[in-house]
Order: sequence, then structure tokens, then C-alpha cells
Amino acid sequence: MKGKFIVAIDGPAGSGKSTIAKGIAQHFNFLYIDTGAMYRALTLKAMEEGVDLQDTNKLQLLADKTKIDMKYLSGNALKVFLDSRDVTLAIRSPEVTNNVFYIAKDAAIRKKMVNLQRSLAKRHKKAVLEGRDIGTVVFPDADIKFFLDAQLEERAGRRFKELKERESKTKVSFKQIEQDISQRDKKDESRKVAPLKMAVDAIYIDTTNLSIKEVFQKVREKVENAL
Ligand code: C5P
Repeated sequence: MKGKFIVAIDGPAGSGKSTIAKGIAQHFNFLYIDTGAMYRALTLKAMEEGVDLQDTNKLQLLADKTKIDMKYLSGNALKVFLDSRDVTLAIRSPEVTNNVFYIAKDAAIRKKMVNLQRSLAKRHKKAVLEGRDIGTVVFPDADIKFFLDAQLEERAGRRFKELKERESKTKVSFKQIEQDISQRDKKDESRKVAPLKMAVDAIYIDTTNLSIKEVFQKVREKVENAL
């Protein structure tokens, strides 16, 4: 595809993918695609409609009649729409987070999501996609791939800080967040279809002891050199 440039960013929860992907997209004026938001949106719908999350047939039927869309505001702020309803905040609830696994492990649903991700990226030509399987499945031929990582304690700390900022009276403890993240990582790494895995040609960055600015600069430099 002429003029295209795809940046793939994968990694576990709390590794800084979203912040970096958004920043890179904004800096280079590329489209930012949050693929986790798509799996989250369908999870929310299944929960709202009371669909049995273990029933793959029902989940696939639900996916077939669901429209997920993203709208971009200034500065790469993103709004997520589920059948035309703004669900940007609702998809971040702990209940959704802990149930995404049921949706994310289904091969037929993943195929649909991957098609949506590819078509969005292709339409805009230059895009930054973040997720778990971007470099391995969605765009194995991406122009540049990153795998962001950090030690579990650090990643849980980041999520805890975010939560405290959003809900100062939260009852969720650091230990609980650490446990949830660890379980989610294990599920993402061990599922049969498109597990969380570093692509062989990805650039690995351990962000444990780096500031956001430092990670951003590393990634920005590499992208600049690859353009
Ligand atoms: O990135 P985020 O934390 O929003 O992703 C939520 C969940 O969606 C992940 O834990 C994973 O199960 C699933 N996901 C996925 N493949 C992607 C992006 C997210 O399976 N490309």
C-alpha cells in the first residue's frame, strides 16, 4: 500500500502502551487505534444483554449484530461507540476488564475485530495500533513493532495511581489490582488464539525504570529512523 506506515505496539496491561501509542500518533499525525477498546465494547454489550459469557455461539451472534466505532477528537482523544452509543467510560469498569477474556479468546470474534482494525488502519494509511496481537497477527508486516513491558509491581502501581486519581475514595487495594493484572496477563498469554506474545522482529522496551517521557523519546526516535 503506497504511503502507508503501520506502527505496532503490544505488551501486557499497564506497560504504558496507550500513553505511548497516543503520543506517537499525535506527534506524527497518525491514526491511533486502541484495539482493546473493541474487545471491551463487545464485552460490555454481552454483559448488558445478559448473554452467557461461556456460550460462544451466542457471543458470536451478538458480535454479528454489533457495530463498534471510534471517533477522534482533538489531540487524539478517542471516543468509543457501541451501536452509536458513547461507551468510552463504561468500557473501563473493573467488571468489563475482568470479563474481556471470554470475548478475546473466541477465534471467530477475533477475526471480525481484526478485520475492523485492518480496515480502519488501511483507510488512514498511517496508524499506530496498540494491543496484544498487533505485531503477530493483525499486522505481521508492520513497518515497525514494539513490545512494551514492565515488572508486575510497577504496572500495578501505575494502574493504582490512575484509579486513585479518578476515584480518590476507591476501596480497591493495590494488592487486588496486582492480582487482577497478573491473572489477566496469564489468560492473555495462555489462550490458544492470538496470545499475548512478542513478535520476533519487535523492539523490546522494559519501561520499569523509565519515565513516560523517556519511553516516548526512545519510541519516537526509532519511528523517525524507520520513516
Ligand atoms: O488493552 P486493554 O487492557 O484495554 O485490553 C483489554 C483486554 O482485551 C486484554 O486483556 C485482552 O484480553 C484483550 N485484547 C486482546 N487483543 C488485543 C487487545 C486487547 O485480546 N489486540
